Amino acid sequence: MKLSVAKEVEVGERRVALIPDTVSRLIKQGLEVWVEAGAGERAFFADAAYEAAGATIVTDTAKLWGEADVLLKVGPPQERENGQHEVDLLREGATLIGFLDPLGTPTLSKRLADRKVTAFSMELIPRTSRAQSMDALSSQAGVAGYKATLIAAAALPKFFPMLTTAAGTIPPAKVFVIGAGVAGLQAIATARLLGAVVEAFDIRPAVKEEVQSLGAKFVEVKLEEETVAAGGYAKEVSEAAKQKTQAAIAEHVKLSDVVITTAQVPGRKAPRLVTAEMIAQMKPGSVVVDLAADQGGNCEGSEAGKDVVRDGVTIIGPTNLPSSMPVHASQMYAKNILTLVQYLVKDGALNLNFDDDIISSACVTHAGDVRNQRVRDLLGEPVAAK
Ligand code: NAD
Repeated sequence: MKLSVAKEVEVGERRVALIPDTVSRLIKQGLEVWVEAGAGERAFFADAAYEAAGATIVTDTAKLWGEADVLLKVGPPQERENGQHEVDLLREGATLIGFLDPLGTPTLSKRLADRKVTAFSMELIPRTSRAQSMDALSSQAGVAGYKATLIAAAALPKFFPMLTTAAGTIPPAKVFVIGAGVAGLQAIATARLLGAVVEAFDIRPAVKEEVQSLGAKFVEVKLEEETVAAGGYAKEVSEAAKQKTQAAIAEHVKLSDVVITTAQVPGRKAPRLVTAEMIAQMKPGSVVVDLAADQGGNCEGSEAGKDVVRDGVTIIGPTNLPSSMPVHASQMYAKNILTLVQYLVKDGALNLNFDDDIISSACVTHAGDVRNQRVRDLLGEPVAAK
């Protein structure tokens, strides 16, 4: 069975789906690995390192895609410079694995189904302990959370830690993290490492202990409704609950030097939590890093990919932060992919047991059909026959 690793063509994407170490493990298992020339270059993994690990370097893109049994990628397939769409390079019956954005771009799933591609979307790996080592949403969110704090620290015209020096005492920075999921918790941990005083808020009260275990204070807001949906994710809350949380958030935003927002509700626009009025109340020089900027933004006025200054406050809307740390982001993603591939392959061939919850959840298209019901709903397709 042949696995092909594609070079990412998305502008600004520096990650690669497999690193040389994972290639050698797959080869030891009897699989063949082809790597597109230069695929690891922007993550500092040279073609020579892949070759030394046993991979074949392929310069012909059409051959790499067209002869793959399993094509491995980071981002969704897209149109290449020559106008050819990557989906059309795959042979019918091939398998594709990557972040395929099935809920954001359902038409891509339709295109993959029409091409009779079996597609596994890393966003749809269940967030269960059994699937933890395949959970690329978590591995990449951890990178993003870490980097968000570093960006905030670099932009803040102040120190993060408390300093007692001959030139006077510097108080520690106050950091407020909104959304304490995987990215938020890593942002908290990093801010604590840098010596800041940290507070955090999340709509899911269950994260209180995790926040406290990192040495941060949890901002509690008692709501009269359920805020957690199936699978442990946050739910969209009522208007009354939104107002109550905003009032509580406002008090903490006002007193913070740094606000890092990471709040998401899967499949929906990011909740708007920090308003222009709250920004106007912050001290000039304060910094907001909005990790949800490219999903509509948690902070009013944030713009994806830009730094905006409002009332003396710098609002940063970074995009694709994992790509800014391509070595470790690729290493972690490659480990997630390796575990998934090992899970799918039996005796050198793909073994798709759709009674298995990991396979059934992550497989978005197979044998000409879009299998995921949420994606089908977005496409206006009827409920799939079992
Ligand atoms: P996410 O990226 O979807 O959202 C980030 C955070 O924003 C979440 O903590 C969410 O509760 C919060 N949020 C949403 N709306 C909010 C609002 N209005 N105000 C404040 N906060 C708000 O989340 P994620 O980091 O991908 O994790 C989601 C869930 O999955 C969590 O329960 C996490 O514990 C769970 N999880 C489980 C596993 C596992 O068991 N293997 C692995 C990873 C994540």
